[in-house]
Amino acid sequence: MTKNYARIIIDISHEKVDRTFDYRIPENLLADISVGTRVLIPFGRGNTMRKGYVVEITAQAGYDPDKIKEIAGIVTDGVTAESRLITLAWWLKEQYGSTMNQALKTVLPVKQKVKPKEKKIIRSLLNREQLTGALNEAVKKNYKARIRLFSALLNNPVIPYEIAVNQMSLSASAIKPLIEKGEICLESEEIYRNPIKAGEQKGKTFKLNKEQQKIVNCFCQDYAAGIRKTYLIHGITGSGKTEVYMELIHNVIEDDRQVIVLIPEIALTYQTVMRFYGRFGNRVSIINSRLSAGERFDQFERAKNGDIDIMIGPRSALFTPFSRLGLILIDEEHESAYKSETVPRYHAREVAAKRARMENASLVLGSATPSLEAYSRAQRGDYQLFRLTERAKKDSSLANVSVVDLRQELKDGNKSIFSRRLQALMEEKLRKKEQIILFINRRGYANFVSCRSCGEAIRCPHCDVTLTLHNNSYLVCHYCGHHIPMPSKCPSCGSPYIANFGVGTQKIEQMTRKMFPQAKILRMDLDTTKEKGGHEAILSAFSEHEGDILIGTQMIVKGHDFPDVTLVGVLAADLSLNTPDYRSAERTFQLLTQAAGRAGRDAKRGDVIIQTYSPDHYSIVTAANQDYETFYNQEMAFRRLMKYPPASGLLTIQFSSRNEPVLGETAAAAGVFVTALGEPQDVQIIGPVEASVYKINDIYRKILYLKQENYDILIKIRDQMDGFSENHPELFEQVLIQYDFS
Ligand code: ADP
Ligand code: ZN
Ligand code: ZN
Repeated sequence: MTKNYARIIIDISHEKVDRTFDYRIPENLLADISVGTRVLIPFGRGNTMRKGYVVEITAQAGYDPDKIKEIAGIVTDGVTAESRLITLAWWLKEQYGSTMNQALKTVLPVKQKVKPKEKKIIRSLLNREQLTGALNEAVKKNYKARIRLFSALLNNPVIPYEIAVNQMSLSASAIKPLIEKGEICLESEEIYRNPIKAGEQKGKTFKLNKEQQKIVNCFCQDYAAGIRKTYLIHGITGSGKTEVYMELIHNVIEDDRQVIVLIPEIALTYQTVMRFYGRFGNRVSIINSRLSAGERFDQFERAKNGDIDIMIGPRSALFTPFSRLGLILIDEEHESAYKSETVPRYHAREVAAKRARMENASLVLGSATPSLEAYSRAQRGDYQLFRLTERAKKDSSLANVSVVDLRQELKDGNKSIFSRRLQALMEEKLRKKEQIILFINRRGYANFVSCRSCGEAIRCPHCDVTLTLHNNSYLVCHYCGHHIPMPSKCPSCGSPYIANFGVGTQKIEQMTRKMFPQAKILRMDLDTTKEKGGHEAILSAFSEHEGDILIGTQMIVKGHDFPDVTLVGVLAADLSLNTPDYRSAERTFQLLTQAAGRAGRDAKRGDVIIQTYSPDHYSIVTAANQDYETFYNQEMAFRRLMKYPPASGLLTIQFSSRNEPVLGETAAAAGVFVTALGEPQDVQIIGPVEASVYKINDIYRKILYLKQENYDILIKIRDQMDGFSENHPELFEQVLIQYDFS
């Protein structure tokens, strides 16, 4: 059957995506029309010509084919950004399994009329000397907001008002008295735009070192020659990646093309943002999750109108409607926040690659600890690999890392959470008035059981992931369902010291206070950063020495430089190592390497103590040695052996329902169906098993895992599974299916 009907949206915006109209595609246009094409259609009773976008092509019309109108023609005045984004949405739908509406809602911003806000800037009216004076005064009186503002103004005489408010947590009432005193003034952006662009007042630029310059040269040569591809920069923490990014951006915007920079939300701090503003001025815009839908729409409009060239933001910035995109940059490429947890469950790296290909742009990925996915592609030659092997700042060096065996501590009678070595170093640093970070590398809630004598965590014999404790009485594997009663002694060494492992940040704060009553302690975790700007406020308090010790989760490892931190203590590396997830070793390596990178950012040499019950685990040994290569080789061997990504494709099919018996029946039937399909095609099928959190809000969830190297086979099975569910409404009426590729 020929597909000669097109579903068309006229008002292209997030809320209106379900309002589509069906038209027939005339024979002579069939070859030229695809999803994303902008067409002319006769609309309404008067058949006035309107422009619309094709969002789907079907074999059947939504209503009486005799009454349907025909598309009048194709709009030929250039391809719009929206048109490309709709094509991208189609790809998302196909690739990740969602409806076209869900995909469109992902790529199109929520349209919300906001009053055109006047763009304001803060300008310093003081000269350098006076500014330094004002800063000293503020420090003396401990006016935190002023300290932040004056130190920023010292680097940059103008600061966008929105940055001051959003990223520096300055309130209007904090700014007002300074205006009254004549120290600063507010100006509208019109003045800001000319006569001088802020970019010309640029912050420091350095002479790039050899390694940095080589990357810039290679990229620029390729770019000038019209070569567009994907590059991976593997550069240790502090090796000057951001500086390289800015050179690349500079080169691309000189060519009158536009740039998207993805930075994980937690690293999108004031310091980072100001570096880009300092260099590129008001050609930069940022989005973050704290912006309202209207503000976000506003930023996207500015991008569409060509008012900016650079958009910086988390995952969703990927869909900025630039029409002359030249480069997409993804910093901290390995971060799990780049994976969407709602349908369509896309990965920003993959979508960026697709968008870059569609729009003839380059893609640059950067990380100190590249994901196995990215690094294996670089090894295969799909990405061009660059390395930055040294710290960029002259006299800064990598920290001195040592691993402490917690089993030995227990043997020697130390039951505290601080090893003797860590205690001694903390005392020393506190005496010297240097700063300390205590890091709890936990992600989510890891309810595994381990032995304090031998360090073994109890694992599934079939899956090599940790078992999860339920009701304090039995242990379950969430990959295969294997379960055993909670043992009373360690299965490996017989010690009675086994328990579930899960210490909270709050508890650690208490213990730290008890041990070091003289120290000022700051804590950063989900609880203390809930409020708007909370995260930023704690970081700046710490960098202003309002605390001697900062305790926190993975939030503290990014985006901020603390020159006076000379000790990082990782309290229990096992917390991220023993999560029931095949990526746990990779996460552990990443977190430890990033944490170690926090110490010794400046001239003072830093120390890092990694406490662990598994001092011999390769992820800990290689992180301590800052040896990515060895880690990569060992981890890839594990993935190959177990057929986990990226050695194999993994499709997760999740079934969820309020009705537990129905869920069981449906998941089992689906399991039989995919097994019949998959087995002849060498697909390894596991399950259905219960999800790692089986019940949430009274909704039960079961999972099927399908592993096969050839991704296309998995996509085909997904499509057939979709057909199966459509043909069996009796099974699927009460059950929702979701797909996830990794
Ligand atoms: P990364 O992004 O790899 O962590 P950054 O770009 O933040 O590294 O650089 C780390 C520090 O080194 C920053 O303070 C930066 O200003 C400085 N830096 C970067 N490149 C140079 C250079 N070529 N010469 C001197 N300092 C540099
Ligand atoms: Zn044991
Ligand atoms: Zn198992």
